[in-house]
Amino acid sequence: MSQLASKIESMYDHELSLDGRAAFQYSLLRSVLRKDLTIGDFPAVLFFNPGRVHSVMADVSDETLAHRQCFLCPEGLEDKQQTYLFGKGVQPEQAHYDGTYAIRVNPFPIFAPHFTLSSVQHEPQQIAGHYNDMLRFTTDLPEYTVFYNGARCGASAPDHMHFQAIRTGNLPLQVYVDTHRRLPDFCPSARWIQADNIQDMHARSFALVEEFSRIVQPPTCPQALPPRPDKADFNIISWYNGQYNTVVLFRRQSRPACFFAEKPEERILISPGAVEMCGVAIVSTAEDFHRLTPDKFKQIITEVSITAQENHNMTIR
Ligand SMILES: [Zn+2]
Repeated sequence: MSQLASKIESMYDHELSLDGRAAFQYSLLRSVLRKDLTIGDFPAVLFFNPGRVHSVMADVSDETLAHRQCFLCPEGLEDKQQTYLFGKGVQPEQAHYDGTYAIRVNPFPIFAPHFTLSSVQHEPQQIAGHYNDMLRFTTDLPEYTVFYNGARCGASAPDHMHFQAIRTGNLPLQVYVDTHRRLPDFCPSARWIQADNIQDMHARSFALVEEFSRIVQPPTCPQALPPRPDKADFNIISWYNGQYNTVVLFRRQSRPACFFAEKPEERILISPGAVEMCGVAIVSTAEDFHRLTPDKFKQIITEVSITAQENHNMTIR
């Protein structure tokens, strides 16, 4: 196991032994119901996880954010939460990081273990200036897949820059890419980039993201994300398997229409972030667990993604 993985997994074991919120939340994971949602040759899954209700329903409006205590800043931590500082200025050998990060056990986990890697600065969730660090984390945590939710694409702390890390092998899309050496049809907006080194990966990912900002027009449906200057509406997952791998999932909507459906029987409360875009649907009510079919899940992912044509129009390969 890598040195960093060993450090943070020790922290995880210690925090769970304190018998506080983390011990409770991770114990709930053992009773999560799981259902196969296979779509064609893509093995999507559905989790019924009542412990995720706060993340699914998170109100991330500017007004709410302005009046709440940020839970990634030291003042917002629970008393038993542990922090492992990593990155620039912490150890001389981490000088190649651009920022300093507080690594913590994610208090509302989807997987065990599940970590947040948050900037020690309270700064907006924006990948620009941090992507280099995301790639560094994949080399320092080769057992882990690191992911990023854009501020309007599933992040429940859009006001505080953070990544998340889970063990590689948990996300169907990542496993599919490693096995088949191509993307599944599941998500029309995905792009996979593989590179030998961080510099290459950085340059190619940013060229792609810049082109997305330039050519993908804001859509006109009621749930569409209104234009904003940085247009950073995407999820990213990265992992290292001897080569650097990144999948960018471009978005047009934050939540699908069924989230807002007026008729209760048509409503499904799902807020897609990187995990859902990669084939793991998470719902927090029994009704939604029964209602979400493979076709419906595929429809939700298609609805919140840019179209296959828009993806094709981005000429950067
Ligand atoms: Zn904060």
